[in-house]
Amino acid sequence: MKRYSQLIRHEGNSGLFDIIDIAILSTYAGIPVHIHAEGLRGTGKTTIIRASRNIFPKIERIKGCEFNCDPKRPHCPKHRDLSPEEIERIGVELIDMPFLEISHSAKKGTVVGSIDVGKLLSKENPQAALLLGTIPRAHRGVIFIDEINRLADTAPEIVDILLDVMGTKPGRIQIEEVGMPTVELPVQVSVWAASNPDEEPGPLEDIRRQLSDRFDFVVNVERPKDIGTVLKILEGRDLKDDPALEMEKVKEFIKAKERLDQFYVSDDLKTTLASMYINFGLESIRGLESILHGVWMLGALLGKKPDKKDIAYLVRFALKHRTDGKNLAEILKNLENHNHKAQENHQKALNEFSVRENAISVPQKEGYKKDKFNALRRILSVFSNSLKGKVSNAADPKNVNIKAPVHKAVPIKQLDINECVKTEDELW
Ligand SMILES: [Zn+2]
Repeated sequence: MKRYSQLIRHEGNSGLFDIIDIAILSTYAGIPVHIHAEGLRGTGKTTIIRASRNIFPKIERIKGCEFNCDPKRPHCPKHRDLSPEEIERIGVELIDMPFLEISHSAKKGTVVGSIDVGKLLSKENPQAALLLGTIPRAHRGVIFIDEINRLADTAPEIVDILLDVMGTKPGRIQIEEVGMPTVELPVQVSVWAASNPDEEPGPLEDIRRQLSDRFDFVVNVERPKDIGTVLKILEGRDLKDDPALEMEKVKEFIKAKERLDQFYVSDDLKTTLASMYINFGLESIRGLESILHGVWMLGALLGKKPDKKDIAYLVRFALKHRTDGKNLAEILKNLENHNHKAQENHQKALNEFSVRENAISVPQKEGYKKDKFNALRRILSVFSNSLKGKVSNAADPKNVNIKAPVHKAVPIKQLDINECVKTEDELW
């Protein structure tokens, strides 16, 4: 199997490399990012995903904990009630950030886990008798699912589990056994997937749209487009791996994580995204959250504020599966033509927002949470105002076109003969 330093980057696969960088940093920082690589067979998407393990930074866990308990935030049944002193006595260890795989033929029990009935009968603590499945063992790391479209087609029960795991950050998982109380655990897992939309059973968004929408970014991986790149790949077949280069990448993630607090998403960008949501009729607000999150991570990775081009690059991956191609092209064109007039409008909108912000008293939270909170409030306030506009127009009686009879209805026998019998002339 190829190592990360043996991979050749070219224009057809560079998007996947970039999105993986964002996903590794985010997973390492404790915020799962779900990514999906789509492409034809032979484009190397699974090779790139599997090799990216070589550049994962290590994480710290409570010594020997198979749930990968963070010593600062223990969550497993055994450690969650321990004091910091008790955890210190057990000790901590550095482990590789988890990378586990679920195949398209996986069974629910092996993915989630089960309750060890044998241990339960020995009257030990029942919670200590859990047999962990792939997902809880990947806590604070990555689960990779190759051929996710096939899994979505044949294993709807596993898709339901994934929806729970990916629905919130962190997600949750339930371990069930007939006749036993259900055990529920929080899980913080980034789901990475790959598929070939041209092969049976087709694109994931056509099979299970809800699951498709859970992915923060979808990247199209393509074959190399020029002879030079193909030659480079051929020459690179015997390329030796370079542990020093891989270690450099690991160090970049460690540095970027330390820089996260210095970066935040600008109000201007949030306003742009909010207007994009309204003007282009986007269905899912998750897409906007993915863009905001990606821009934050990218800023920390680059060590500078992402520019308009960087943002358009991320928008492409965050909305590819959430809107049709024509709409996406319009959105990208709109972002590129972010001309002077649009900036003026944004400034006007921002001024309105700041007036509104002053008028509403909100609990002040620090850092990103505050930014995210404000962003959503802005988006929602724009959204609700546009809705209000439609509702008030319809509710105004002057705007209602009345077609019903204007007189009060009376029984037919009370009517004068002239009122109930009309000649043809009177009717027309
Ligand atoms: Zn633990």
